Amino acid sequence: MISFKNQFLQFVAQTSPTPPSLEIVKARGIYLRTADGKRYIDLISGIGVSNLGHRPESVSNAIRKQLGKYLHTMVYGEYILQPQVQLAKKLAELLPENLNSTYLVNSGSEAIEGAMKLAKRITGRHKFVACKNAYHGSTQGALSLMSDPYYSDFYRPLLPEVYFMNYNDVQSTDAIDDEAAAVIIEIVQGEGGYIAGTDEFLIAVADKCKKNGALLIVDEIQTGIGRTGKLFAFQHTALVPDIICTAKAFGGGMPLGAFITSKEKMQFLADKPVLGHITTFGGHPLSAAAGLANLKLLLKSGLMNEVYDKELLFRKRLVHPEILEISGRGLMLAIRLQSEEKVKKAIAHLLENGVITDWFLHEPNKIRLAPPLIISKPEIIRVCKKICHALDTLKD
Ligand code: PMP
Repeated sequence: MISFKNQFLQFVAQTSPTPPSLEIVKARGIYLRTADGKRYIDLISGIGVSNLGHRPESVSNAIRKQLGKYLHTMVYGEYILQPQVQLAKKLAELLPENLNSTYLVNSGSEAIEGAMKLAKRITGRHKFVACKNAYHGSTQGALSLMSDPYYSDFYRPLLPEVYFMNYNDVQSTDAIDDEAAAVIIEIVQGEGGYIAGTDEFLIAVADKCKKNGALLIVDEIQTGIGRTGKLFAFQHTALVPDIICTAKAFGGGMPLGAFITSKEKMQFLADKPVLGHITTFGGHPLSAAAGLANLKLLLKSGLMNEVYDKELLFRKRLVHPEILEISGRGLMLAIRLQSEEKVKKAIAHLLENGVITDWFLHEPNKIRLAPPLIISKPEIIRVCKKICHALDTLKD
């Protein structure tokens, strides 16, 4: 019989030549179990999704409960589905007043697409400003926001007018002018290697948006749902975004995204023409029920209050001559080493020893750490020892 690994490589479409190919049989909390009987600590939350660990009890129960009622019944926005209504209402309670209308979608990329389309409708403009080394998704609108031509050139023509700022470079905010429909920005840059935005830069971006009538779209797809210690990372700042996008951890392990803005702004997608954005499965009842249970659990758990201490513990314990820098905020932390080769070696060594870390799309010299927020302090101490041990093996 052909092994599952070979069948995986043969029949399941691949996105890279050498996927890690762990054959998962079970996942619970911060642990994954594979078919060969090995146990792994998931230090990346599969990436940035399992913020409350894999399969939290109350999320699984909510999915089972919803499964006993109904699954798909009608395309998005037509019928009253209680899990969607409750989730959107809960978000409105938790967010500033101008973020009181939620459009539920299937993924982060779709949330970005929806936000970009909405910005075009509201402003009547089509120029976008994003940051170099950002990643906002793989669909063609979101891909247009990717600065590295390695990823985007083969798919051109993409959106015609996208300008890039250097992240944390106040001067480059000059790209935001009165022709810009919107600026799309992350509060902690994800695929750029977990770089926290400076207050100075973020405020300059917000000021330029305001001055020029451009909308401020904050991509909270990796930073959201407690990852930095607040529900959304913009809540650490003085920024008032016009639109926020969420996905990844939002569904508690189920596929779910959203773009969120004011009722008045959102109305543009429902009027002249109607159906400005439509989706069959957006806000699927199972995903919405899971997302609601996940949000309630996050709020009840008090875990967001522990994020800062856990970040400090990682920083305190990750002291090693091979570590040049630790960047990021909250439980999105990146370890900078001297070279890509060292990063690859360390990641492979850690995987061999039951610890899952990862690399970044745009930053080859860093190791990604984004553990579930439920990771305990003794577990942090244990994994830091394992990381330092992996770094010991890098000595020339
Ligand atoms: N924005 C950010 C910041 C992301 O990290 C990602 C996914 N890595 C996306 C958007 C796209 O999300 P999805 O993969 O769900 O389409």
